[in-house]
Formats: sequence, structure tokens, C-alpha cells
Amino acid sequence: MKLVIVGGVAGGASAAARARRVAEHAEIVVLERGPDVSFANCGLPYYVGGEIRPRDKLLVTTPARLRERFRLDVRTRSNVESIDRAAKTVRVRDLDTGREYDESYDALLLAPGATPLRPPLPGVDSPAVLTLRNLDDVDRIAARVDAAARVVVVGAGFIGLELAENLVKRDRKTTVVELQDQVLPPLDREMTTPIVAALRERGVEVLLGESAAAFEPEGGAVSVTLQSGRRLPADLVILGVGVRPESRLAADAGLDVGQRGGIRVDEGLRTSDPAIWAVGDAIEVRDAVTGGAVQVPLAGPANRQGRIAADNILRGADRPPARYRGTQGTAIVGVFDRVAACTGAAEKTLRRLGLPYRKVYVHPAHHAGYYPGAEGMTLKVLFDPATGRILGAQGVGGAGVDKRIDVLAVAIQAGMTVFDLEEMELCYAPQFGSAKDPVNMAGFVAAGLVRGEHPQADMEVALDGPPDDRTILLDVRTTKEFSEGHLPGARNVPVDELRDRLGELPRDGRILAYCQVGQRGYIATRILLQHGFDAANLGGGYRTFLLHRPG
Ligand code: FAD
Repeated sequence: MKLVIVGGVAGGASAAARARRVAEHAEIVVLERGPDVSFANCGLPYYVGGEIRPRDKLLVTTPARLRERFRLDVRTRSNVESIDRAAKTVRVRDLDTGREYDESYDALLLAPGATPLRPPLPGVDSPAVLTLRNLDDVDRIAARVDAAARVVVVGAGFIGLELAENLVKRDRKTTVVELQDQVLPPLDREMTTPIVAALRERGVEVLLGESAAAFEPEGGAVSVTLQSGRRLPADLVILGVGVRPESRLAADAGLDVGQRGGIRVDEGLRTSDPAIWAVGDAIEVRDAVTGGAVQVPLAGPANRQGRIAADNILRGADRPPARYRGTQGTAIVGVFDRVAACTGAAEKTLRRLGLPYRKVYVHPAHHAGYYPGAEGMTLKVLFDPATGRILGAQGVGGAGVDKRIDVLAVAIQAGMTVFDLEEMELCYAPQFGSAKDPVNMAGFVAAGLVRGEHPQADMEVALDGPPDDRTILLDVRTTKEFSEGHLPGARNVPVDELRDRLGELPRDGRILAYCQVGQRGYIATRILLQHGFDAANLGGGYRTFLLHRPG
């Protein structure tokens, strides 16, 4: 068996090492266009910031080490130009010598990744307008960053924000320009409010709903013209506006490619040619929650797919193929002292697809409040209103967000419901968590909703004041809290006075009660319901209001 792998980084290197562990006698050739294999793409922004040093730390392994330990035939600076499916060969170009040759295969694995988008804007090819994918790119950025007092990052996705943080660490004046009205587009907008605040607190100018229209070279620098007409002088521009699957090789060979350009594969990661498999950023995957075909460029999926494909190629036809379960899009980003993470479907995705859902927000501390150092977080959980199946989750805060989103990611993959979240037994001591973990808390609120035990209205109905004449917004926090800020048009009756002041409330209308995070609002709603009022709790309380309407 001779396995040829195109691409030697996340998916390709992972497949190659697994292939050797499974098949000691197979011939395994790895063809990589760049000078390095298996480098740490995800570490690149932190090299720009000086956090990771020296540069060698970015090399997870080297061709020499792969040859020594795994007896892999690793050829760097080797670009695969085309595939001859009938002859089962690939045409390889040695980029150092220009020599071209054919390499035969029994099985071919494509792991070519995705290439950063460079929108065809005037001046985009200026030497001061760069993208970040590999070590050559990071060297180019590093060479300019010392002398770049002003940097514009176009695109506020995960990579764009990681770069912004690291540029600030290097004392660069940094501006982030984002076409959408939010940063981190995979998350719902309100969940990104604390991230925008963190960026602005650290001096980053964040321009939302803006896009770059042209880049005009000015000496060694560049002037960025925005759609709005505003001009931003910059010494360096970094584009982080998304990636496109590198599927040209596959498409030219007649393999099936999806609408967004991803190589189509089956559950065993085999393409439309039975001798060719594909993994990583270059493929179209099944969304594990919605079932749709999506592109999700993440390192975890690429690595897991590499393992699965290698198993399926080398383990023989007598074994059932290993199955890739689909991608949930579980992702995390740290921006200064804040963290945002997500898994599964976002609310906007569910809305766009017309899928039924409900949501809860909880704002717990990451560990027991009485133990020093507790940090607040917001968790949003989306679920099926009929069955309670968890569809998605997002978290924003500081410490402990990663753990909760990981737990919820597992829950989604296991097909769990909000009732399971109520029952989850998670580790607890005061410095690590709470006896009722944030995940349990989200489960309690959501399960009460699905069971119909507890009426809850979404905060969106009250953002601009009472939604209609027969509804009142009842703030049940203390008078002091109320005076410091409240929902437009709200009345204040603190929860501890509520039983004595029921006479002030209308019996012919509807009462939407809220507090700071939802708990006192819940107690108030229970009191009101049992005294015969038509009442509901406004989900997530004033803190959720502030996420939607930051001061
Ligand atoms: P890649 O790792 O890109 O490897 C593909 C390789 O194939 C490339 O080296 C390319 O040169 C080579 N190649 C392509 N075509 C050919 C050809 N014709 N012939 C020969 N070789 C070819 N993901 C996360 O989950 N978390 C993170 O924190 C994170 N941070 C990131 C930060 C940055 C700056 C970047 C760029 C990416 C980050 N990612 C992160 C995404 C993650 O790195 C990718 O999802 C992952 O590397 C995809 O693996 P892959 O094997 O499909 O492609």
C-alpha cells in the first residue's frame, strides 16, 4: 500500500503519523508546498505579540523528526499541481529546482487546508497589506511590525481579534474594521458585547458595520479607505476576513465540490473517487446540530479527521469504516482578560433556518462567590422547546468559560437535553466551581421552561420599553439598583416588598418581572403567579439587557 498525502500540517501530519501507527509496512509520502510541516498555525498571533519565543517553538515537529520516528517520506517545497485519477498519480513540482515528476499512489489523501481571502480591492496587493496563514506570513508580519506604529486589522473574527490583542501587547495603535455589526461572527451579537468593551478598554478602535474599500500605498505605508469614506493611515494592514477551501486541485480532477468550494466527502471522509480521501479546512462537513453542509476551519476537526481517514484507508475492507460525526464549531478566543466560546448552533443560525428553539441566559460566578477571585460569566444555552435537546451554547466572561462550553459541547454531541444539565455531576470545591455549577443553573432555568413550570419572556420584547399597553415591566431589584439604571418604562417594587404591595399592580394586564440576573425575577414571578397575576420572568435580567444595549 502506498499512501500519498497532500498537505503536511494539521490534517495531513495527523493522518501521516496515524497511518504509520496502523500500517508499519505502508509507503507513506507527504507532499507539502511550504518549507515546514506540522507547525502551530494557532500560535502564530502569539508569536506576533512576542508571547511565543523563539520561533522554533512554532514547529511542532520537523520533516527530519517525522522521517526518524515514523519513517515518513516527507517532501517540503513540493507542490502538487494536478491529479491523474485514471493513472493514480499526482504531478509534483519541486519548488526549489523547478523539476516536475509524477508520484504514484494506491490511496491519496488531500489535506490542503484553506487560503486566506484577499478581496479584489484596489491596492490589496500592496506589500503593506498582509494575511496570516503560515510561518512565511508571520515572518513578513514580524518584519514590519516593529516599525509599524499604526496597524489596521480588517475582519474581527477569531484570528483578527487575537492579532489585535497581540498588537496592543506590542504597543501598536490598532484599529479593527468589521463589516458586520458585531465582532466574532460565529457568536450571537449580544454575547460579544463584553469582548468589544475589552478591546476598547485597551485602546483598540473597533469600527463595526464598516469595510475596507481600497488600499492606497503612501511611501512604505498604506492608507485604508473605508466604505464610509473615512481614511485610516496605517503602516501595516492585516486581512483576516475569512478563508477559502483550497479545493482547486480536487475540482480540476473532477471530484465533487460543494457550493462553498469545500471538497465533498462521505461519513468515512472518502471523496467521490474511491481511491481519494480528504480532510481539514478543504472539505465540506455536516453540521452536527442542523445537518446542513458547512465549512468550519478549525484545528480540532482537522486533526480528528486526519486520524479517521488514515484508519479508513489502511485498516482494510473487512472492518467497518470509522465515521466522522460532523462538526459542532466548538471554538474559543481569549481577548485580554476576557474569553468568548461557542459550540453548536447560534441563535441567528436557528432563526435563519427556521428551526424551533428557546434560550436561557445565566450570569453565575465561575466558582463559589465567597472564595476570593470569583469571576462572572454569561452562559447562553439554546434548546429545542419541545424535547429540551441542547442545540447550542455560548459563553463570555473570564476564567471557567472554557470548562462550561466544553461540558456543553460534550452534552450536544451526546444528544443530551436540558434535563440532563440539571442532573450533571461536576467537580466542585470552592476554588473551582459551585455546588450548583453554572451548567446546572442553565439546566434548572431551561428545564423549568420546557416543563412549562415557569413562564419566561425573552429580553428582546422589552428592550425599548413595555411591548404593549397592557404589559408592565416590573423591576424587583432594590431601589438603589433601580436608580443606577433600569429598563425603559420599568416600575420598581423590590422583591422583598412585593407581597405587601400587590395592590399597586394591575390584575387585568401582564407583568414582566426582572432583576439583575434572573433569580429574584424568578422568585417575584412565583409570588405573582400564586396571587393570580399574569406574570413572566424576563430572561437573564438587567445584565442580559445590558448585553443587548450596552450603555
Ligand atoms: P493546514 O493546516 O492549513 O495545512 C494545509 C497545508 O497544505 C498547508 O501547509 C499548505 O501549504 C499545503 N498545501 C496546500 N495545497 C497544496 C498542494 N497543492 N501541494 C502541496 N501542499 C499543499 N483553529 C483552532 O481550532 N483554534 C485556533 O486557535 C486556531 N487559530 C488559528 C490561528 C491562525 C493564525 C490560523 C491561520 C489558523 C488558526 N486555526 C485555529 C485554524 C487551524 O489552523 C486550521 O483549521 C487547521 O490548520 C486546518 O488544517 P488543515 O490540515 O486542513 O490545513
